[in-house]
Amino acid sequence: MNGDTYDVLVLGAGFAGLTAARDLAADGKRVLIVEARDRIGGRAWYRPFADTGFSIELGGNWVDPDGNTELMAEAERYGVALSQSPHPEHHVSLLDGILRHAACPITDDDRAALDQLVKEVLVQVERIDPELPLDQQDVADLDVPLHDYLDRFGLSTPLRGLIGGWIRENTGCAEAQISALHLMSWIPNLNGDVLALGHTPTHRFAAGTIDLLQRMLDDSGAELRLSSPVAAVTQSADHVEVRTHNGEVLRARGAVIALPLNCLTDIAFEPALSPEKAAGAAIGQSGAAKKLWALVTDLPPKVLGVGCHEAPIDVFFTDYPAAETGLGGDLVVGFSTQERPLDILDREDLEAALRRYLPEASVLKVDGHDWLADPYAKGTWCAAPAGLLSKYASALEATEGRLVFAGSDIAHAFRGWMEGAVRTGAIAATRLSAILAER
Ligand SMILES: Cc1cc2nc3c(=O)[nH]c(=O)nc-3n(C[C@H](O)[C@H](O)[C@H](O)COP(=O)(O)OP(=O)(O)OC[C@H]3O[C@@H](n4cnc5c(N)ncnc54)[C@H](O)[C@@H]3O)c2cc1C
Repeated sequence: MNGDTYDVLVLGAGFAGLTAARDLAADGKRVLIVEARDRIGGRAWYRPFADTGFSIELGGNWVDPDGNTELMAEAERYGVALSQSPHPEHHVSLLDGILRHAACPITDDDRAALDQLVKEVLVQVERIDPELPLDQQDVADLDVPLHDYLDRFGLSTPLRGLIGGWIRENTGCAEAQISALHLMSWIPNLNGDVLALGHTPTHRFAAGTIDLLQRMLDDSGAELRLSSPVAAVTQSADHVEVRTHNGEVLRARGAVIALPLNCLTDIAFEPALSPEKAAGAAIGQSGAAKKLWALVTDLPPKVLGVGCHEAPIDVFFTDYPAAETGLGGDLVVGFSTQERPLDILDREDLEAALRRYLPEASVLKVDGHDWLADPYAKGTWCAAPAGLLSKYASALEATEGRLVFAGSDIAHAFRGWMEGAVRTGAIAATRLSAILAER
């Protein structure tokens, strides 16, 4: 056992944990970061595509340079550069059995119905303060499955298909698994632009998320223990004790729990977490996207494809044209969901899926990661199911004794984004500093 060598233990070396560790170290605290994986970054993971020399993001990827203010402040602080995904030049859609090569895949009537839906959604969005916990606002009526919410509008099959594709692209879930309130609470973060949910993102870190993550870690000077999955967290009146599955026991005056929401139930907390936090963690988040990467030839230049439930891929686009990859093809990124039989690591399967849109396409290599089966993620980015946020949003992030909580899954603003992780990490550090100053 290590004695009280540390002031603070930070559990989890994702964006939230590293932000908290850096801020606490800057406040003079001796910090140890305890991470289950053999790398930092968590759900942000930049590594070579299919054993080539060209790297891609398997997890968190795009940023909004205008809205992601805290993440951009971090990038600026460390001089981390952004680059841009190419603007699409060729559009293809597969909706209601019809293949189209056009930027707008819906009829004028459907466009009018979409405008009406957007108007109605914006009226509801006006009721939401994205900076405050949703259980402290009068919005429980919106915490219903998106499927039920959309059913009220009598939308045509192609329009419903298009919207369903956007929902799956933004959440990794089917309409029934996701709360209308969750997606509505994103809209203020998208500058009130509901249709931004259907846009492809553009900006990304030029040298990958690891560029920023590593600089944050280096700047913190915190000690890092990798390959050390935490099994138990026990707190007493004056300290916190963390036991790892490797049998190590670590002690400090306080801890930041910066773990994925879906992994919280794997830790034995003593005393137990509050009944509300435990209930929220037991519900968990539903994000279960399949993010695919493929090296493809015989594609139209800079293509963007969208599809509805009949298509095995909801959205795909050229992220790195062949001239940039030097790999003899374009690198295409795409998203699908668990209920589709698509195996993103099977070259032939992926080629058949892409050929539903572009019959000439040839897939040379594929890559991806199964985040749902990953024991230290158990899901992709946060997609809250109905009944979670209007009941447990405050409890999920509430401090418990000497434990403060962080992570993009429990953020109010930018829940599910890297921005949300950074924001909650900073808040957690401030909270723990205050607790340690008092006790
Ligand atoms: C496929 C995919 C695409 C995404 N795309 C985007 C995007 O384009 N833009 C965007 O902003 N966001 C995106 N996200 C979301 C973004 O990556 C996450 O919201 C963010 O990185 C989460 O940071 P975090 O620190 O809260 O959690 P995490 O990054 O999950 O960090 C938690 C850490 O805890 C560790 N851990 C888990 N269990 C234990 C344990 N028992 N003991 C010790 N350590 C443990 C994990 O290994 C992990 O390192 C995407 C995510 C995925 C998966």
